Amino acid sequence: MTGALEVFDVIIVGAGPGGSAAALSALRARPSARVLVLDRAPLGRDKVCGDGVSPEAAEEIARLGLPELLRPSERVFRFRLVAGDADTSGTVPIPGYVVPRAELDHRLMLAACSSGAIYRQHAVREVLQDSNRVVVDGKYSAPVLIGADGANSMVRRAVGQPPNRAPHMALAVRGYAPAPAGFDGLYLRWDPVPGTGFHYAWAFATAHGTVNLGYGTTASVVSRAQLEDRAAELLPGFEVRSTRMTGHMLPLSTQMPRTAIGRVLLVGDAASLVNPLTGEGIFCALASGALAGSAAMAENAGDNYSRAIRRRFGWQHRQFRALFPFLGWPIVIATAIRACGRDPRFFQQLISIGLGAGTFRIRDLASLAAGIRRS
Ligand SMILES: Cc1cc2nc3c(=O)[nH]c(=O)nc-3n(C[C@H](O)[C@H](O)[C@H](O)COP(=O)(O)OP(=O)(O)OC[C@H]3O[C@@H](n4cnc5c(N)ncnc54)[C@H](O)[C@@H]3O)c2cc1C
Repeated sequence: MTGALEVFDVIIVGAGPGGSAAALSALRARPSARVLVLDRAPLGRDKVCGDGVSPEAAEEIARLGLPELLRPSERVFRFRLVAGDADTSGTVPIPGYVVPRAELDHRLMLAACSSGAIYRQHAVREVLQDSNRVVVDGKYSAPVLIGADGANSMVRRAVGQPPNRAPHMALAVRGYAPAPAGFDGLYLRWDPVPGTGFHYAWAFATAHGTVNLGYGTTASVVSRAQLEDRAAELLPGFEVRSTRMTGHMLPLSTQMPRTAIGRVLLVGDAASLVNPLTGEGIFCALASGALAGSAAMAENAGDNYSRAIRRRFGWQHRQFRALFPFLGWPIVIATAIRACGRDPRFFQQLISIGLGAGTFRIRDLASLAAGIRRS
């Protein structure tokens, strides 16, 4: 670790929602901080995603001081959830949004740069740490580094944390098609595949007259053609067959690495913070990035960040780990969706569990178990 190094207060690897939230939150905690964001892609890159920004993700963006980053035309209030013959629609009091990731991530990173973050296009290859600092590629150093480099995180590997194993790693494909007349909101349709984890198709209306279509699964041996076929079968009425699909991995929070390893903090997909019920990860990346950014500006960043993650997500993660083997049972999802149809409060609760940091109450689990026994 010798030679001329550029020195920063924090280095962030990855300019997705996790990296931008980390930069914004570090600069809110200390406006004069020298914050370096490194991403291998140029600003404005796309990310394979469903583009669904949940109500809690939108709140997180507002909490970062950007209440106007999401536009009224991008709002969605209506959710339709389907599993087998269970079919429930409902509206949420706080809207979600659908924003193509090339736009969302660009806006977030521009906001971070306006607050003082320095963005450099640079593919990180080496991360070394000692008791005082972290050094990146022999060029940059800082007392703390935040790994926000996504599902195939090199930072995570560099600090000795292995990637998730199957079935805790999902795969999903997505593409854009013209929106059918009158279609709005978010449509999720679970696939009745017995086994562990989630398998579902989605159609999310964008503000551009298109619909983001896709299919995700935790099945470990599956080809892209099979995913596209299931999307086409589950989404009749949408132009799935003529849509070009691309795929990406989702590391689920049912098998997380350590979130702080010495002076390196992992956030978002790099920390396997993807919701195993739905594949939601933007909220988790924003929330963990914000916690890591502020922790990085104080003493004992690693301990404080790990504690903050446990406070925010600990109970939810314990529930998900316990329930994960049952989440793939078609009857469980169908019973939950029927319960949403009967009880609007449970509907809101399920949206918060699947797309935010919500947790099941004991009475919800008891009534779901009773519903499954009756079926
Ligand atoms: C098909 C699909 C659909 C999804 N749909 C949704 C959805 O609708 N809603 C939702 O909330 N979540 C969804 N997710 C999950 C969501 O996309 C991720 O959880 C989210 O992008 C995580 O954000 P992040 O900031 O952690 O990482 P990313 O957004 O992946 O950003 C990581 C960044 O790191 C950079 N990088 C990687 N390696 C290096 C390196 N060595 N050096 C420098 N830079 C590097 C990359 O270029 C990238 O910009 C979906 C995922 C998939 C695959």
